[in-house]
Amino acid sequence: MDKRVAIIGAGPAGLTAAYLLAKAGVPVTIFEKEATYVGGISRTENYKGFHFDIGGHRFFSKSKEVEDFWTEILGDEMLERPRSSRIYYNKNFFSYPLAAFEALKKLGLLESALCVLSYMKAKIAPVKNPLNFEDWVSNQFGKRLYSIFFKTYSEKLWGISCKEISADWAAQRIKGLSLSSAIKNAFFKPKDTNKDNVIKTLIDSFRYPKKGPGMMWETCRDKCLAMGVEIKMDSDVTGLHYENQQWAITAGNQVFDGFNYVLSSAPMRELVTAITPLLPSASIEASQKLNYRDFLTVVLICNDKDSFSDNWIYIHDPEVKVGRIQNFKSWSPYMVPDQKYACYGLEYFCFEGDGLWQSSNETLIALATKEMQQIGLVKAEQVVEGYVVRQPKAYPVYDQLYKEHIATVRQGLQPYKGLYLVGRNGMHKYNNQDHSMMTAMLAAKNIIAGEELYDVWNVNQDAEYHEGGIRGGQEGGRLVPQKIQ
Ligand SMILES: Cc1cc2nc3c(=O)[nH]c(=O)nc-3n(C[C@H](O)[C@H](O)[C@H](O)COP(=O)(O)OP(=O)(O)OC[C@H]3O[C@@H](n4cnc5c(N)ncnc54)[C@H](O)[C@@H]3O)c2cc1C
Repeated sequence: MDKRVAIIGAGPAGLTAAYLLAKAGVPVTIFEKEATYVGGISRTENYKGFHFDIGGHRFFSKSKEVEDFWTEILGDEMLERPRSSRIYYNKNFFSYPLAAFEALKKLGLLESALCVLSYMKAKIAPVKNPLNFEDWVSNQFGKRLYSIFFKTYSEKLWGISCKEISADWAAQRIKGLSLSSAIKNAFFKPKDTNKDNVIKTLIDSFRYPKKGPGMMWETCRDKCLAMGVEIKMDSDVTGLHYENQQWAITAGNQVFDGFNYVLSSAPMRELVTAITPLLPSASIEASQKLNYRDFLTVVLICNDKDSFSDNWIYIHDPEVKVGRIQNFKSWSPYMVPDQKYACYGLEYFCFEGDGLWQSSNETLIALATKEMQQIGLVKAEQVVEGYVVRQPKAYPVYDQLYKEHIATVRQGLQPYKGLYLVGRNGMHKYNNQDHSMMTAMLAAKNIIAGEELYDVWNVNQDAEYHEGGIRGGQEGGRLVPQKIQ
């Protein structure tokens, strides 16, 4: 059978699939709703030669296949960068990962002793079967450390109480980290360099393209174009019609038909309502209950050589609204056109349409300038210019019912053959580029083979493939996907 593939979205998932399919000679058309940028949430925007990400993007994966893909696309243009990050709390900066003596000194003896007691209490009498974020983290670190180092930031990030956030998020994001591993890390730098054993949140170096993640995805786009992939920019897909095992795509008032496969990285909540014939009403209703957290970055270009060298700082202080501050020159010196300037990204978590989101750019730049000064990082007179980027649906929310909603949507999608949901918002999974790419890689492999070799839903957050509870095979010490038996 001749194959024709439509891909919705030119983010990491869409471009990875397009690249692999095109290499195998399969005709591909990508529909991307953005007019200019590819890379989706992993794009790099550019203002007057200053480059910045939508949140800094580390390139780190336990999957050899993903790492090799990045090397194949960018080769020497990838830098190996040291990681430096801190937490700002109670007018103090704490190294993150924590440095034991420093944390002890800055918290004070009394507070440190109370933290230890509360940790012991959690170990003696943990919450049985913790279902929410607060209980999960408190079990792991004690209530007191949870309140200092997790509660404020997580509530800023999600805009809901930690009691309403599913424990899944904690288990995923701080997987493998316990107080003892954090302290062990603080006293003794781990000698084990095997990626499989590294706790993701503690890694101390990562790869990064010279000019940000956008460079990866723009180069991938160019390679796709050179292999004949058709990329339709400014093409918002608003309809997908399924008939006789064929798909027709409506984008920008035009219909493109004759596709036997569709890969969608569009948000699940939007995709489901675009499909005809309609899904069962239960699936449509479930899709509409999926929630997202939105995000904006205020970029401040400052006359400031080196106020601080961190890649990013988490801001736990409830007195300022900013959640995290990126220092893009520390990610790569190539991110700024002139080394006498710095380019900081202040990240504000919000909901599309709320007060922060609706604020004018001038108001947001003034807020960011004020907060930078309040924290003591930069003086207002050092700020030369500001710029604002809004990112809807930056985070798929893991509330208490999200898993049930996804299961109901998947049930409703079963009769629609040839449709793969891939990537972060496509599958409503709070995951990094590597996971998004791996789901796309497996979908592409299925299409190339013409049979369902892999279930893309069995890729975990580390981009490892699990089949029936058995981990993938080993290749060069790293995990590789295994086929469905
Ligand atoms: C603040 C922040 C920091 C992050 N840090 C890291 C990090 O350090 N390392 C890392 O690896 N990952 C990081 N990530 C995650 C990373 O951004 C995502 O995993 C990745 O971009 C997901 O790729 P994707 O292709 O699935 O989706 P997206 O990046 O969301 O791309 C989807 C594309 O589809 C397009 N689209 C959507 N709907 C339609 C439609 N109807 N029609 C046509 N086109 C459509 C969008 O415009 C977009 O271009 C971070 C994310 C955030 C928010």
